[in-house]
Amino acid sequence: MLKGKTALVTGSTSGIGLGIAKALAAQGANVVLNGFGDHAGPEDEVRQAGAAYGISTAYHGADMSKPAEIEDMMAFAAQTFGRVDILVNNAGIQHVARIEDFPVEKWNAILAINLTSAFHTTRLALPAMQQANWGRIINVASAHGLVASAQKSAYVAAKHGIVGLTKVTALENATSGVTCNAICPGWVLTPLVQKQIDARAAAEHIPVEQAKVELLREKEPSLEFTTPDELGQLAVFFCSPAGNNVRGVAWNMDGGWVAQ
Ligand code: NAD
Repeated sequence: MLKGKTALVTGSTSGIGLGIAKALAAQGANVVLNGFGDHAGPEDEVRQAGAAYGISTAYHGADMSKPAEIEDMMAFAAQTFGRVDILVNNAGIQHVARIEDFPVEKWNAILAINLTSAFHTTRLALPAMQQANWGRIINVASAHGLVASAQKSAYVAAKHGIVGLTKVTALENATSGVTCNAICPGWVLTPLVQKQIDARAAAEHIPVEQAKVELLREKEPSLEFTTPDELGQLAVFFCSPAGNNVRGVAWNMDGGWVAQ
């Protein structure tokens, strides 16, 4: 379905971003990966996922908190594959503390990486998408883009912000073939969440497995983690012809979290 298209997925060396990159590759899209840590392994995984179509991958290590590096990444993607057709703004970090104790540098980093980076990638990707009259911008928000939790002020503010940015992007392009939507996962068992489980286990002096169950019970009625693969399939739907008129939604895939 996406053969000949190019997807750029920020933060795709791990977790949800990697899951979405693989799902798009499996539909035939070439993929530009981004993120920290090992990238050769994730690139291999993405190429394997797209093997039936002989897709290509490329990697750019831009730090999403640095606008100049984001500009360099967007130029690199255009040079390598001609154009970015599908932009997935996924890179994100978390920090947990009460507002009065929240480190200022953590607030700034979360806002920069989880929200402002998407403004930069979007503004740089839009002109070519508009010219082609086809584009998909998918913002990975969170259940925390729709409801709040204590101790996550920066994350909740950034995720509510990205849902707002999603709507504006959708509206400004509503009469074109460029759509913008947000995905709002509940708990997904990635390194970002494993850190929170480990912290809970340590603070409450309980086994990690018990901390995992308690984390789910508190927020996610299904008591199941959402998987990167399921989120990848939602991204594929947004890219499909059936998604042509899906514009500005914030679609939760959260085991019932925000239905409560
Ligand atoms: P993860 O830690 O597994 O992956 C995060 C990715 O972002 C990695 O590839 C990392 O290298 C990259 N990254 C971090 N800082 C970066 C920076 N400054 N520049 C470039 N890349 C950077 O986390 P994840 O759980 O897969 O999270 C991905 C997205 O999903 C985030 O936006 C997160 O807020 C969101 N999300 C996660 C969950 C969850 O339960 N895991 C739930 C809702 C939303």
